[in-house]
Amino acid sequence: MNQRVLSERARRVIPGGVNSGQRSVPGLTDLVIAHAEGARIRDADGREYVDYHAAFGPPLLGHNDPDVAEAVAAAGRSLDLAGVGVTQGEIELAETLAELVPGIEKSLLTSTGSEATFHALRVARAATGRRLVVKFQGCYHGWHDSVSLNVISAPDRVGARDPISTGILPEVLEATLVLPFNSAEAVRRAFAEHGADIAAAIVEPVPHNVGCLLPEPEFLRTLREECTKAGSVLVFDEVITGFRHALGGWQQISGVTPDLTTLGKAIANGYPVGALGGRADLMDLFSSRPGGPAFFAGTYNGHPAVVAAALATVRKLRAEPVHEHVFALGARIREGLTAIFDGLGVPAVVAGYGSVFVAYFMTGPARTYTDLLRNDAEMFIGYRRRLLGHGVFELPLNLKRSHVSYAHTGADVDHLLEAAEQAARAQLA
Ligand code: PLP
Repeated sequence: MNQRVLSERARRVIPGGVNSGQRSVPGLTDLVIAHAEGARIRDADGREYVDYHAAFGPPLLGHNDPDVAEAVAAAGRSLDLAGVGVTQGEIELAETLAELVPGIEKSLLTSTGSEATFHALRVARAATGRRLVVKFQGCYHGWHDSVSLNVISAPDRVGARDPISTGILPEVLEATLVLPFNSAEAVRRAFAEHGADIAAAIVEPVPHNVGCLLPEPEFLRTLREECTKAGSVLVFDEVITGFRHALGGWQQISGVTPDLTTLGKAIANGYPVGALGGRADLMDLFSSRPGGPAFFAGTYNGHPAVVAAALATVRKLRAEPVHEHVFALGARIREGLTAIFDGLGVPAVVAGYGSVFVAYFMTGPARTYTDLLRNDAEMFIGYRRRLLGHGVFELPLNLKRSHVSYAHTGADVDHLLEAAEQAARAQLA
């Protein structure tokens, strides 16, 4: 059945025709995906794309990595789900996270990143007895109420509370303070005024939900210092950065250690995972009994197939030069794109880190979310729509980042750069 027919069927029975916000993209509303392997995805009409969207980040090894797929299949043959006690795999994964991630002594598994950030804030409130949460403009931490505000805000909503959904109690939104990213001064001011009421500060150490804003060292250091002084819990949301930039996450790279860390996406290379880890004294507040200091539960937490995927992913990341490969390709892409846009006289800031890249169409700098308001969204989206015509898939939505995986090759990068030059020329014509 072709995509048009299938997507019409989808819209009749699935609200908006898709199962997650931002999977339906203007200009691509009939997209039905049939297959994914390595660096490629294929739609139901047989059109193939080199995939840089990468499902918003999980397949760091590439789609359907054979070692991960085999581990998942073997786990399924042995145990689907018991829902009582613990498995050896869960123990090994928790030991691995404690070994790899500087801020993790103990950890718990969830099925999504949103659940991990939800529980991070719950336990921070339980530990401190305080109400307020600090988040930063441009950061996304999932769909739950305390963090559902001020991600990609329109210019006139920056600086105001800007919920991403209706249906949220105003008192929940009021308990979240939104600060500009990379402003150590704003952090100092907020803690001077509200420090005694702040339960937690949560931050994407690299806000990849708006492409890539690299954190200034003073910013993360100040956040750490102010949280420590005020007795507030610092949460690094490493759902994107965890494993992708380093096995120990951005905290390993920056040397700033949070109290709690959330992980997801790349740690299981495409299987539904989230993890919350941190200081043992905080994590020990979670009790498996209702009425414990902080309640934590989930039918599918630590699912054997997902745990097997995560363990197989870590094994491969440790055994093979995955980071070297994706970092080298990422650097080549960023340098190549910069040269192309410079050559064409297009104002562009090609940002990113390691395997992540994004071309903003604007003049620099790109330090804060407010800077990104200068990005030419029409050019950003138009350029990416033209890339689709060359078989290159970068999500045609404003400010979205792209990723390379271990399955991408130098030839894929050559192809991307040729396509980029042609797409940019056509967009300018
Ligand atoms: N935190 C960050 C930084 C994310 O990018 C995301 C998802 O994009 C989440 C949390 C939520 O994760 P999930 O979609 O698995 O609930």
